[in-house]
Amino acid sequence: MYRIIKTVPRCIFGKGSLDQLDEILKPFRSGPDNGIVFMADDYFRDKPLSGRIPAGKHDMLLWINVDDEPKTSVVDNLRDRILSESGFVPAAVVGIGGGSIMDYAKAVSVMITNSGSSVLYQGLNLAKNPAVFHIGIPTLSGTGAEVSMTAVLTGPEKKLGIKGEFTPFDLVVLDPELIRDAPANQRFYTGMDAYIHNVESLCGTSRNCMSDSYAHQSQVLCREAFLGTGLSREEADEKLMIASWFGGLSIGFSEVGVCHALSYGLSYVLGYHHGIANCIAFNQLEDVYGKDTDDFHRMIEIHKIDIPHNISKGFTDNQLLHMAEVSIKLDHMWKHAYGPEWRNVVSIDKIVGWFRKM
Ligand code: NAD
Ligand code: ZN
Repeated sequence: MYRIIKTVPRCIFGKGSLDQLDEILKPFRSGPDNGIVFMADDYFRDKPLSGRIPAGKHDMLLWINVDDEPKTSVVDNLRDRILSESGFVPAAVVGIGGGSIMDYAKAVSVMITNSGSSVLYQGLNLAKNPAVFHIGIPTLSGTGAEVSMTAVLTGPEKKLGIKGEFTPFDLVVLDPELIRDAPANQRFYTGMDAYIHNVESLCGTSRNCMSDSYAHQSQVLCREAFLGTGLSREEADEKLMIASWFGGLSIGFSEVGVCHALSYGLSYVLGYHHGIANCIAFNQLEDVYGKDTDDFHRMIEIHKIDIPHNISKGFTDNQLLHMAEVSIKLDHMWKHAYGPEWRNVVSIDKIVGWFRKM
């Protein structure tokens, strides 16, 4: 059984393309009630970017805090607030920020037209009604959230995406200038998500010509962006932005693997953000990903990045077990990494062993 992948149908790419947003939104402003909801990372509230968001008097501009990764409870509150305060179903939702905001914008646009809590929709194709038109404008590159079919959410019971044909953005604005000022560590953690997506996509049983092709090209771009010499930051940012896009497409047609399964455990139990959690895990996965971890270590050195290590000293036995339990439930990732008989290779003890190395 092959899966059907829905990708983003419209994309604009280029330096300064954010300035076309007002023009892009014109067709959505046809009636007096057709306001637009802008959901922007509150990091930008006092930055020049805030002055470039074309919010008019019928629109709603929501500044969203992403200190915690996206939660189902926050999605539900945002949806309720939009519907009660604005009094309209918005003509479009625009998300401006990193992967967390991409996921909030995708989830909220689905939940505006589907009743009940977003917890009910964590899974595949559970939404019944098409989402409000939604536009993604990434300010960090690596997660591929701008192109994926998933809005990853942490709920009371699990970290699992709202995934389906209504989730992907209808349009994405890829403006490499928006990632230019990201701090070195954050740029690296998020950028490595793309690198790790490719490594994992290429090393597993679900790989195929489509996923390999995207992953290979994304890997070339990641290596140029992080290992290349003589590139300006501007050139590197363009490559990274496209690496993120291709990496996201690659795992759409394939799957992530061991690093992501472990990283979900770290995020769920200890609250580490996705990018840094991946880096902490990948840093200790030489036994699984060999040469690709060597390149990763070189990138860390070149960019003088801090990757937390020896964090396992602070883990309690309960935390270790909880992380391993969260991780082992990610059947699809383990199956990709080790095949249908993965349970012969991977056990709670083995996973605890990996966590103890971190
Ligand atoms: P993020 O969106 O969580 O942001 C990390 C930090 O960077 C935040 O403090 C944010 O305010 C800040 N930030 C954002 N843009 C900035 C900029 N230009 N300059 C300075 N600071 C900036 O980071 P992320 O790594 O892009 O996203 C991680 C999230 O993406 C996680 O919630 C993860 O679950 C999700 N994710 C989703 C998918 C998907 O397919 N939907 C795939 C991978 C990861
Ligand atoms: Zn990832």
